[in-house]
Amino acid sequence: MTDSVGSVDEFDVIVIGGGSAGENAASYAIAGSDRTVAMIEHELVGGECSYWACMPSKALLRPGEVLGAARNMPGVSAGALDVGAVLARRDSFTSHHNDSSQVRWADSQGIEVIRGSARICGERTVTVGGARTLRARHAVVVATGTTATVPDIPGLRAALPWVSRDATNLKEIPRRVAVIGGGVVACESATWLLDLGVEELTMVVRGHGLLSKNEHFAGELMARSLERRGVRILFGAALRDVQRADPQDTGIGSIHGGPATLDVAGHDPIVVDEIVVATGRTPATSEMGLDPGLLDSRGYLVTDDHLTTANGWLYAVGDVNGRALLTHMGKYQGRVCGDVIAARAESRPLERSRFLASADNGQVPQVVFADPEVAAVGITEEQARDSGRDVETVELDISVAGASLSRNDFSGHAKLVVDRATDTLVGATFAGTEVAELLHAATIALVGKVPLETLWHAVPSYPTVSEVWLRLLEARR
Ligand SMILES: Cc1cc2nc3c(=O)[nH]c(=O)nc-3n(C[C@H](O)[C@H](O)[C@H](O)COP(=O)(O)OP(=O)(O)OC[C@H]3O[C@@H](n4cnc5c(N)ncnc54)[C@H](O)[C@@H]3O)c2cc1C
Repeated sequence: MTDSVGSVDEFDVIVIGGGSAGENAASYAIAGSDRTVAMIEHELVGGECSYWACMPSKALLRPGEVLGAARNMPGVSAGALDVGAVLARRDSFTSHHNDSSQVRWADSQGIEVIRGSARICGERTVTVGGARTLRARHAVVVATGTTATVPDIPGLRAALPWVSRDATNLKEIPRRVAVIGGGVVACESATWLLDLGVEELTMVVRGHGLLSKNEHFAGELMARSLERRGVRILFGAALRDVQRADPQDTGIGSIHGGPATLDVAGHDPIVVDEIVVATGRTPATSEMGLDPGLLDSRGYLVTDDHLTTANGWLYAVGDVNGRALLTHMGKYQGRVCGDVIAARAESRPLERSRFLASADNGQVPQVVFADPEVAAVGITEEQARDSGRDVETVELDISVAGASLSRNDFSGHAKLVVDRATDTLVGATFAGTEVAELLHAATIALVGKVPLETLWHAVPSYPTVSEVWLRLLEARR
């Protein structure tokens, strides 16, 4: 129930942004109490992941993966993708951009959803759409996420290129595409675009490898796999200029005008029917009335491990704090933040580890759902050495009975980074067909600081791909 004081509505907690991180912070902050929470959302409750990012992208990637598995299984006759059916299934996963079920969930948790754009206008005070003022008794949580960055390259913005929202919600399949970028979104979108029938795909990559935040072998395997499918990858590429004949704002996922020509230094002009810009994210912190002293140089809100900013009443969870731009990590932060707010509201001490988002610090798991899948947790060998850790590594191809049984063309590679002093994992990376489900075992071993000596007794079942653990431990005997 909202309290009104003068023309100001009072809540115990105000959450700005109703994405997955904000939803979790809101529900945890009031769980089991009579506290009130308002969650302000200016677009769709559920946020980027539900409608524009994780859900549609994974719905687009899975059919190609299933088809690949069928094609590589003697005795199984595999057809082709029915693009219309794939897009229809994708649309069912995004609920056709209708957030009513998410709003029902919020209601069921006791969260009051308020529609509109929020802005901080004073201590614990927020305006919505410039018309309504809300005040929080305990905390304001910023969970406004990020938006796609379009670099300032001559002609690029004027060409109205696709960003991730277009690529995930595509309605038409362009024949020729240039993907700008070499990170996760670039690799995943190149994969589903090829699956859906794009005939010519060029990747324009500024750096010298794909997936540069991962172990190098992962990017190398990804590049080889994409090149096998006919993708032209330009590494070390400087995009100098873009020209598009007739750019048109035809809506998200429709082709935005006539052919575009890309001028990449040292290469012939590249002519495509659509450009996909996948060059990173920009935090949604501008025009929110935030104290600039709370932001880092890239505009992310800086928090401590309680997800609290320096002013003590403002919290930040999810992409907007830049700690780990992933749904599962944003939700984790939301849970930690909600628990912290609840404990502080009840004057309970923050002495348990669940009040600290410690996993953000070098224990983050992430999967790239392309072909190969890349599943990684923790830090890379290079990051470990750069931080002065004494580490050793074990790596080998994934060649176990479970793998070859799963499909005839199985190939993969795995690497562990082991802290010598404690004999525990600080990083693990698997690249290969359907390795995503191997990751949680590595995450548990890493977060639980399980010595490798002990892991010897975690016997993997035969014949599963998890037997790669046994081979890795044997290699280190
Ligand atoms: C193509 C793509 C694929 C991805 N795939 C995965 C994946 O498979 N797995 C994974 O873990 N992560 C994935 N991610 C990352 C993931 O989408 C994000 O980490 C996650 O959505 C961030 O959640 P959030 O709650 O922090 O922000 P968001 O989901 O962006 O929510 C922020 C909300 O705040 C609202 N808002 C913003 N400003 C205001 C304001 N001033 N007033 C009111 N409301 C406001 C926005 O409308 C939005 O709904 C992917 C990202 C992309 C781009």
